[in-house]
Amino acid sequence: MAYNTEAQQQEPRPRRYGPGEGGGGRRFGGPPVRRVCAYCKDRNLRIDYKRADMLQRYVTDRGKIQGRRGSGLCARHQRSLSVAIKRARHLALLPYTAAHVRRV
Ligand SMILES: [Zn+2]
Repeated sequence: MAYNTEAQQQEPRPRRYGPGEGGGGRRFGGPPVRRVCAYCKDRNLRIDYKRADMLQRYVTDRGKIQGRRGSGLCARHQRSLSVAIKRARHLALLPYTAAHVRRV
């Protein structure tokens, strides 16, 4: 009567709930980065369509407006930024397209 007690023991099932598997997140390690909008942080800072040097930061080298992910702005400021960039484009302070495309 040599019962194999070990076989009766339930094996611990591999759990698949831990972080790292599934979820689709790409960032691993480190604390979660909470980026705060630069214009919310600094109340004195205003988005001004006349300041092309300031808006240039949020425009790609192809002249496109950078998305929220790139700019790190909040919805409100991203919206006013895009309006400011469009105004600046109209005043020819910012390009509509990449410089090398503009060649006549
Ligand atoms: Zn903001």
